Amino acid sequence: MTSFGIYIHVPFCRDRKCPYCDFYSVASPGPGLVERYLDVLEAELARSVERYPENLGVGSIYFGGGTPSLLEPEQVWRVYCRIKSLWQILPGAEVTLECNPEDLLLRRAAGYFSAGVNRLSLGCQSFDERQLELLGRSHSAADCRAAVGNACEAGFGRLSLDLIFGGPQSTEGALLEAVGTALDLGVSHLSLYGYHLERTAPAYGRAELAPAGEELYRSQYLAACRKLEDSGWRHYEISNWAASPDEYCRHNLAYWLRRPCLGCGPAAHSFLPPDLRFWNPEDLEEYLKGGGGDKLSDGRSERLDSEQVLCEEIMLGLRLESGVEPAAIGAFLGGELETTLQALREEGLGAVSGAGRFVLSERGWLIYDEVLGRLTRKERPSG
Ligand code: SF4
Repeated sequence: MTSFGIYIHVPFCRDRKCPYCDFYSVASPGPGLVERYLDVLEAELARSVERYPENLGVGSIYFGGGTPSLLEPEQVWRVYCRIKSLWQILPGAEVTLECNPEDLLLRRAAGYFSAGVNRLSLGCQSFDERQLELLGRSHSAADCRAAVGNACEAGFGRLSLDLIFGGPQSTEGALLEAVGTALDLGVSHLSLYGYHLERTAPAYGRAELAPAGEELYRSQYLAACRKLEDSGWRHYEISNWAASPDEYCRHNLAYWLRRPCLGCGPAAHSFLPPDLRFWNPEDLEEYLKGGGGDKLSDGRSERLDSEQVLCEEIMLGLRLESGVEPAAIGAFLGGELETTLQALREEGLGAVSGAGRFVLSERGWLIYDEVLGRLTRKERPSG
C-alpha cells in the first residue's frame, strides 16, 4: 500500500510569541477557539479523502506548530481517531508531536503516549539560562531535562530535541555543552537550527537580539558537526542528526523526498506528486470561515512545470546525505556540469559519492543557498 504523511498545524502558542519566531500562530487562545479549530480540522481531514483516497495508508502524522503541546491529550486522540476513521494508519506509522518542555509533565506525556503519539520533538533551543531568556522562551534548562525524563518514563523511545545556534550572545562552548547534555540525556535525534530573524519576526531590528554574526554561525555549526560525528551520529540532513538511521524523522524525510503529504490547519502546505502543491490561508479566522473547504478552488495551489519539479528535486535532495543524481543538475548546467562539480569538490563543498550521487559536505551545507545557485542558475538547455 502506498503511504502518505499528514501534517497537522496547531496554530496556537501559550501567552506570547517568542521574539525571533515568524511561524504562523496565535497567542493565548481561549478553549472555545481551540474547539472551533478542531471541528474545522476534522472537516478538512474528511474532505481530503477526495484527493488522498482510502487506498493510501498513513505512514506518518506530525503535529507541528505553533505549540501542539497546548492541546490536551484527549484532543490529540480526537484528531488521531478522526484520521483512523478515514484511512488505514499503517503498522509502525510514526506519530510525532512537537512539545514545549514546560508543558511536558509526566501525566501529560503519558496521555500523549496513550493517544497514539510515539515520537516527541522537544523545543528546548538551549540549555543556557541567559540564552533562553534572550530568546524569550518560557522554560528553563531544568524544564528541558525534566521533560526528557518524563517522556522516557511515559514510554517514549523516540525523542528529538531542537537547539538553536548562532543566536544573540551565543558561544561555541555553550552550544557544545548543550549538544553534550542532549547526548547525555539519551535523546535519539537532534535538530540544530541557525538563528536568523525574518523581517516579520517581532525582534527584527532589535540590536540585543541580532544574530551572533557569520563567523560565529559557521564555527558553531562546524563544531557541533564534529562533536556529533565523534559520537557516531548520522548527519542525514542539513539541520538534522540521528543516533542511527532508524531514528531519522520519517515524516520530514518523506517531505524532502517529495512523497505525498497532506497538510491540515492554517498555513499548512500539501503536496501530491509529481507536481501539485496547495496550501491553506495563513490566517486562523479565514481558515475557520473556510470550514475545511476545498483549497484548490480558492487559488491557493500551484502546478509545477517540469523545470520547477527538477529544481525542487535538486533543492531538497541537496539537503540530504543521499544527495542528487548529477544528471539532474546537468539539465541546468549542460556542458558545464563536470567543471562545476569539479570546482565544488576542490573547494571542499561537495563530492560525488560512492553511489554516484552529488552530495554536499558540511561546509557546503553552511553556504547551501550559494551552492544551490551555482548548480541551478543556468537555463535548462532547450530540446
Ligand atoms: S518559537 Fe514556538 S513557542 Fe515560540 S512563538 Fe514560535 S511557535 Fe510559538
